[in-house]
Amino acid sequence: MFEYPQLCIDTDVIGKNSRKVTELCKKAGMSVWGVTKGLSGHPDVARAMLEGGCIGIADSRCLNIHRMKSAGVQGPFLLLRIPMPSELAFVARNVDVVLLSMAETLEALDAECRKSKKECGVIIMVDMGDLREGIWPDEACRMGEALRKCKAVRFLGVGANFGCLSGVLPTETNLSGLVAVGKEIAASAGSDLEVVSGGATSSLYLLEENRMPHGVNQLRVGEAILLGTDVTGGREIPYLEKGAVEVLAEVVECRRKPTKPIGEIGADAFGRTPVFEDRGDRLRVIVAMGRQDVIPEGLAPSLEGATIIGASSDHLTIDVEDTGRSFRPGDILRFRPDYGAMLAASTSRYVNVRIL
Ligand SMILES: *Cc1c(COP(=O)(O)O)cnc(C)c1O
Repeated sequence: MFEYPQLCIDTDVIGKNSRKVTELCKKAGMSVWGVTKGLSGHPDVARAMLEGGCIGIADSRCLNIHRMKSAGVQGPFLLLRIPMPSELAFVARNVDVVLLSMAETLEALDAECRKSKKECGVIIMVDMGDLREGIWPDEACRMGEALRKCKAVRFLGVGANFGCLSGVLPTETNLSGLVAVGKEIAASAGSDLEVVSGGATSSLYLLEENRMPHGVNQLRVGEAILLGTDVTGGREIPYLEKGAVEVLAEVVECRRKPTKPIGEIGADAFGRTPVFEDRGDRLRVIVAMGRQDVIPEGLAPSLEGATIIGASSDHLTIDVEDTGRSFRPGDILRFRPDYGAMLAASTSRYVNVRIL
């Protein structure tokens, strides 16, 4: 019971994709942190990434890091989201590398680390134009001075985000700029610049084209390893496998119905007014999965000829006329999720996670 909807994860594929990405990076002298947040820090996913050559596990959530540590995943662990002051006690005790952008938080983390007699590495985030987290480049000296005062927090280097809030792409120009800011911070902190963390999946194309600026030596990669896609670059990555993550749902109704609803049309359950074209009677199925389980717009049916008609909280309706097949209650339909749908499915308590 409670087997469906199901999020099916093939850790062999995740391991193989990790290996492909880490080898590509290694050729350019770069290392890779495997990013597990898309699958809520599943310990088996983390293990597959580490076996595939990732130097550590990065996640945005302390709760996910806690989950992996409790399951015996070795780490090291990097916290991707700049920390909430309220979670610094956990961070000091459990996280090896932290991304940071505020001097106040840096001081508070240093105090926590001293209290718990632990060392912690920091990567200072620099805003190279995407306008999410990060210091502005002209704050380099001031941040360096704050780092110089730290006793238990060690400056490792700098990092930047691209394609997150604003869709700004990583380029040779903005990544060279990041390296330059890193050197400034290091000089003012009186430390070496060990790490320049040049982004995520969307930075891989620069490596493929041999255009990664000198000095960038790390990436934090999730989407490419988990899905084989690069949403920011709008592409499937040709050398990576796509089928590591699938969503499965069970058929609860199958009948031929008109394509145009009968009656006056108001808003649907989510306040939208749908528009339907009359295509005559067509075969459709309902699977027992809806908005409480996934983001239906992010699903692609694996079955050729099947198209999603719509979804409510608990039901997903699919046109299967062109599949040339018949269906019965209890049949299972498979879907490829995009990153958002995968994230939602792995977060929903109604979705059963199955590791292959
Ligand atoms: C999620 C995240 C990543 C990984 O991004 P992908 O596009 O999945 O590779 C990298 N860095 C930060 C800060 C993130 O939050």
